Amino acid sequence: MTEPLIFELGAPGRTSSFMPECDVPVRETEELIPGNLLRKKPPRLPEAGEQEVARHFTRLSSLNYGVDTGFYPLGSCTMKYNPKVNEYAARLPGFARLHPYQAEDQVQGALRLMYETQRYLAEITGMDEFTLQPAAGAHGEFTGLLMIKAYHDHRGETGRRRVIVPDSSHGTNPATAALCGMEVRQIESGPDGTVDLDALRAALGPDTAAVMLTNPNTLGLFERDILAIAGAVHRAGALLYCDGANMNAVLGISRPGDMGFDAIHLNLHKTFSTPHGGGGPGAGPVGVKSFLAPFLPFPAVRLDPDSGTCFLDYNRPLSIGKVRSFYGNFGVVARAYTYIRALGGEGLREVAENAVINANYLLSLVRGTYRIPFDRRCMHEFVAVPPAGFREGGLHTADIAKRLMDYGYHPPTVYFPLIVEEALMVEPTETESRATLDAFAGALLEIAREGRENPQLLKDAPHGTPVARLDEVTAARRPVLRWQPEGEEG
Ligand SMILES: *Cc1c(COP(=O)(O)O)cnc(C)c1O
Repeated sequence: MTEPLIFELGAPGRTSSFMPECDVPVRETEELIPGNLLRKKPPRLPEAGEQEVARHFTRLSSLNYGVDTGFYPLGSCTMKYNPKVNEYAARLPGFARLHPYQAEDQVQGALRLMYETQRYLAEITGMDEFTLQPAAGAHGEFTGLLMIKAYHDHRGETGRRRVIVPDSSHGTNPATAALCGMEVRQIESGPDGTVDLDALRAALGPDTAAVMLTNPNTLGLFERDILAIAGAVHRAGALLYCDGANMNAVLGISRPGDMGFDAIHLNLHKTFSTPHGGGGPGAGPVGVKSFLAPFLPFPAVRLDPDSGTCFLDYNRPLSIGKVRSFYGNFGVVARAYTYIRALGGEGLREVAENAVINANYLLSLVRGTYRIPFDRRCMHEFVAVPPAGFREGGLHTADIAKRLMDYGYHPPTVYFPLIVEEALMVEPTETESRATLDAFAGALLEIAREGRENPQLLKDAPHGTPVARLDEVTAARRPVLRWQPEGEEG
């Protein structure tokens, strides 16, 4: 059953607020707001009772699916469980009730938390300095590329305006480069799914500003030639940028800074267990080697070692400026800080080990039934394609994904990375038990059988959701995002 809109509930005159009569003189609205700005008719707000409202939104919330509801193997997105202790810490009144305009001496705890988080992230990634300002992974990429551009310009190399990305890269990489006014050059991956060193060497030139790489890449494979790649990039005078959104496989084991990367962004809302999805606040901190540090956004959060106090450093003449109001999404940083402190260095390493073991275990259960285009030991995720015979029977990855919903799972990432046709990209994360992985693999194998015996069952899936297959093309081309009262236009 679908839930009606709040506008379709209630009745005229029904209300949820009970305010006493006003006991001071009322001023006319026209005295406060110029008449030409006042609306002619009152807005058509829904009128509903409190209980109706509470039930409506509670029902809506139960239609949602999240990591607190079930397994969510969305490759590249790292939908790991978000420990509740993170929420507890972020909601401590001393953090939650701060105002960004408070004086530095009143917010020493918060500044210290930010400073220490920067240091932890620097240690984890092998970088020298960090900014916590960017609000998402893509925003971090934007910040990183702006710094790289500023660096080249500062050295008088204003012709470096090209960014090289592999064809397996996350869509945000070329999009970010274009947004920074760069030209994008895509290079084809080698037959094993990793960067083709010769193709990269051929693409590098005096106009190259940066190469953006993900390691492990979006196929879940580690770039084994990373040192040679870094050498080639640097010899060409370009910089190597790490899309570190997916650090889950290498946390505590290897460090992008040691591999030769010059800058990196992290997704706290992936690797560091802060919530994401639904467009909620995230954080994409950016780390750089010291030669790029002068270009970091201001203010920098610094520690004065003599007094032991933290301060905001605005004196950064080469800075690219601010990339976000105030200091970033502080509440998200507080959650990530809690996660890092709760696990410690050993624990973070175990995160990576278990993420890789879980992915390889799941892979071992479905291999043979599902085809694995780049079948070597994977890192935190793997890419599969539908079982043999599916395509001939008119079945696609989307049908498998939709059918998985009937089994109570969030589908994996589908049709990404683009270099694998019909891709299913599965990332179980370290937070799932063996029982969950066994059950999920069981569902995938069962769906493979269903597809052979009764393909229509998959084509009509999902069968148990309030709505099933929607007209996605019309939804994208002619989105109807607003309720209109009958008889009223725009
Ligand atoms: C998630 C992701 C991004 C983008 O992060 P957002 O926070 O969604 O902007 C970039 N690159 C990779 C590899 C990712 O997985």
